[in-house]
Amino acid sequence: ARPSPFLEPTSTTTPNTLAIISLSKEHFQPITLQESAGAVDGYAEGVTLNTRFGSFPHSTLLGLPWGSQVRASVVDTGSRGRKRRRDQVEDEETPTSNQDDGNDTPPSSAPAKRAIAASSGFVYVLRPTPELWTSSLPHRTQVVYTPDYSYILQRIRARPGTRIIEAGAGSGSFTHASARAVYSGYPESDSDSDARGKVFSFEFHKPRFEKMDAEIKQHALQGIVQVTHRDVYEEGFLINGTSPQASAIFLDLPAPWEALHHLARRKTLKGGKLDEHSGDWESPLDPNKSAHICTFSPCIEQVTRTVTELRTLGWTDIDMVEIAHRGFNIMRDRAGVSITSEKGFSAQPADVTEAVKKLKSDLKRTQDFHKAQSSQLVSDASESKMDVDESTPEYNGGNSRISTKNEDPLWLQGRLVHRTENELKTHTSYLVFAILPCEWDDAAEEAALAKWPCGG
Ligand code: SAM
Repeated sequence: ARPSPFLEPTSTTTPNTLAIISLSKEHFQPITLQESAGAVDGYAEGVTLNTRFGSFPHSTLLGLPWGSQVRASVVDTGSRGRKRRRDQVEDEETPTSNQDDGNDTPPSSAPAKRAIAASSGFVYVLRPTPELWTSSLPHRTQVVYTPDYSYILQRIRARPGTRIIEAGAGSGSFTHASARAVYSGYPESDSDSDARGKVFSFEFHKPRFEKMDAEIKQHALQGIVQVTHRDVYEEGFLINGTSPQASAIFLDLPAPWEALHHLARRKTLKGGKLDEHSGDWESPLDPNKSAHICTFSPCIEQVTRTVTELRTLGWTDIDMVEIAHRGFNIMRDRAGVSITSEKGFSAQPADVTEAVKKLKSDLKRTQDFHKAQSSQLVSDASESKMDVDESTPEYNGGNSRISTKNEDPLWLQGRLVHRTENELKTHTSYLVFAILPCEWDDAAEEAALAKWPCGG
């Protein structure tokens, strides 16, 4: 089986693999690169990605080192074969809910506009990573974002070889990150599979389960991720009656406390009472390791109920964390700023006319940048930026620098300002962590003493 591009990427882009197209700093679009066997319906450019920065036949995206910049095609792909391409390509390349910056000029819209767009822009073709997937995946639910899952994965001790239980799978954002964290090679046989890192993911919503299952196969992650259609409150976490032998658990569920009694060492009822009629019940946990859990809940009431149930069931080291991630945008602001005066700068445009002027100038600057972009220009810019910032900075309020050289390039003029991002790419949730120690009896104590004699 081909390796997953998330785990063992090829050095160059290849047909039938996922690529993440970077349209701008914050806009990414996932596509499956397709090789067109010659022309599609007689149109030489074949399958094409259409974006606001121009059209990119897949043939121009193939065989490149990951991270390559690709310029838009000079061919006006918009004025031909529209219906054919709409049927064939739009499915894959229509922007997703968080991806509105993608193909926003549908093949059927103004050919003149598209012809102008052709060859004016560029994109980067990036290799899939869980972080990029999180930024571009089709949202079916709220998802766990990178700042949260990077912290969660280290707290639950996810590392190559770890076996993780995850519920619910949702849109698969956490699933992809955890698959990379636990990956320790593809299993070569069923028995080998037991010794490998693996993610056991559960989802009770049928359409979501089906989408996830298909995505995992598309991304060649089967063998590392096993998705099960299941209501975990009712049915717990065994796979065909067998234990996943997990030592790490992540619950992103509306009522995690409803599922906790299934994560015990002995068959336990909700509220912590041992089930006397446990029969040959197996624990889903690895008996030889402590289990580390994280639950993810937006409300403090959910946290309280979860903590009560965790305590009742014997979990220890319970604590709660909230990740407050905030990005800062650093930019130059020229509107309303006199670049020769020393004091009293206003970062805000004085009135509506100025605001419109500023918007137009920002737009033009972006367009100019995309048109004029060349590696020489970029390297010139970074050299001259260092000159200005280091030799003639002027400070305003301690957080900005003003270039006063009129001969400076456009993008170095104005004052450097920072603003916090409006939209936080993480929805605030409380993370509850806890540990369930492995069971200890006389035999375990003897074995431990034999292995590590006191003072030895
Ligand atoms: N962590 C996911 C991600 O990063 O994409 C998002 C999870 S989403 C917020 C919660 C999911 O839990 C939903 O897809 C929902 O269908 C599923 N779910 C809710 N109750 C469940 C249950 N009892 N058993 C299994 N899945 C459940």
